[in-house]
Amino acid sequence: MKILFLDQSGKPGGAELCLMDIAKPYGDRALVALFADGDFKTLLQQQQIPVEVLATQPINVQKQSNLLQALFSFKQLFPLLIKVVKLAKKYDLIYANTQKALVIGALASVLARRPLVYHLHDILSSEHFSQTNLRVAVTLANFFASLVIANSQASQTAFVQAGGKPELTAIVYNGFASNNYQIPEDEIKQTQKDLDIQGKFVVGHFSRLAPWKGQHILIAALAQCPPQVTAILVGDALFGEQDYVQALHQQVAKLGLENRVKFLGFRSDIPQLMAACNLVTHTSTAPEPFGRVIVEAMLCGTPVVAAKAGGAVELVEHGVNGFLITPGEPQELAKVINTALQEIEITATIADYARNIASQRFDIATINQEIAQLLCSGKIKLSGTEVVDFEDAQD
Ligand code: UDP
Repeated sequence: MKILFLDQSGKPGGAELCLMDIAKPYGDRALVALFADGDFKTLLQQQQIPVEVLATQPINVQKQSNLLQALFSFKQLFPLLIKVVKLAKKYDLIYANTQKALVIGALASVLARRPLVYHLHDILSSEHFSQTNLRVAVTLANFFASLVIANSQASQTAFVQAGGKPELTAIVYNGFASNNYQIPEDEIKQTQKDLDIQGKFVVGHFSRLAPWKGQHILIAALAQCPPQVTAILVGDALFGEQDYVQALHQQVAKLGLENRVKFLGFRSDIPQLMAACNLVTHTSTAPEPFGRVIVEAMLCGTPVVAAKAGGAVELVEHGVNGFLITPGEPQELAKVINTALQEIEITATIADYARNIASQRFDIATINQEIAQLLCSGKIKLSGTEVVDFEDAQD
C-alpha cells in the first residue's frame, strides 16, 4: 500500500516521533509531506524515510484560534491543498497525523478521490482547543475520514464526547523498539559524568517546555526534597513559550535551586538520559493524550511518576508499574520523590516490572501490524460508499 502521510509540524513532538515509527516500514512506498521545515525533516532523512516539505511559511492557525482567524488562513492553505492533491493521486491513502493535516487531507481526499485516515494524537477538549478548532476537527473527521486512530482511550472518549462518530475509531497506543532503551552500564556512567550528576539522586523531566507540561510543578517539589535531589529538564520551548521558560528560570532562582536544576534543551539521546535518572517525572497539568515519555522511562527501567489524568492512567497503575499523583500538586510529587529516594528496593522492583510489561504492551512490531491491519480492513473507504481496492494492500 502506498501512503501519503501529512503532518503540519517541522518540529519533532510526540505525534511526529510516533509517525516516524509508523512510516518507516513502508519505505519508498510512503512519503511524509510536511507543512513546515525543521528538525523533524532531518530526523526523517536520517531514518531514510522519504520526506518533502510542502509549505515555505508556517500555517497561521493556533489551537485556540477563532473562526475568523481560521478563515483568513484559507488563502495560505489553498496553494498547499493543490500540492497535496497532486501528490495524493500517486498514493493509495492519505494519512493525516495532525489537525491542520486533517483539514488539508480531508479536502484533498475528496479532490484526489483517495481515502483518509486520521491519527488523533490530541484530547479534543476545550482545555486544549478553541470551540472552532474542536468543531472543525470533529466535523471533518466525521465526514471525510474512513478511520480515526486514537492514541489512547482518553483521546477516543474526548473525540466521541465532542461529537465524533464512535464507529470510525480504533485505539492504538504508540509503539517503541524496546532494544533502543537498553543502555549499557558504562554508557549510563558516562552520561552521568558528562552531566556532572554522579552520586546525586536525579529526577528527570522530558518534555517540551510549556505551561501545561508542568515543569514548574517539579521545581516546586524539588524545594521540598533533600539537597542531593537534582533535576534535569530535557526539552525546548518548541512552540515559542519563551515567557514560560523565563518564569521557570525565575522560579529556580527564587527558590535558590540554581545548583540543583539543569536545563538541557532539546536532546536526541533520550534513552541514555532517562537511564541516567533515578526517577522520571511526568507533571502535565491538563490530561495527557498518551504520554510517550512515561513508556520510554519504563523501557529504560527507570521508575516513573505521572500525573493522574488522560492517557497516563491507562499506562500507569499506582504502586504496580509506577506512581500516580494528582495533577498540579507539588507536595504529592515531593512525597513520591522522597519515597523513591528512601525505598530503593521496592522502587526498583516496580521499575523492573514496568520494563517487562511495557516492552510487550508497546512493542513497535505488534503496533505496526495492528495499524497495517486497520489500513487494509474494509473500513477504508472513499467518503461516500466506494470501497478502495488496493492492489498490494497486504504488502
Ligand atoms: N523528546 C525528545 N527530546 C527532548 C524532549 C522530548 O526527543 O528534548 C521526546 C520524548 O522522548 C517523547 C516526545 O518527545 O518521545 C514527547 O512525546 P509526549 O507524548 O511525551 O508529549 P507530546 O510532545 O506529544 O506532547
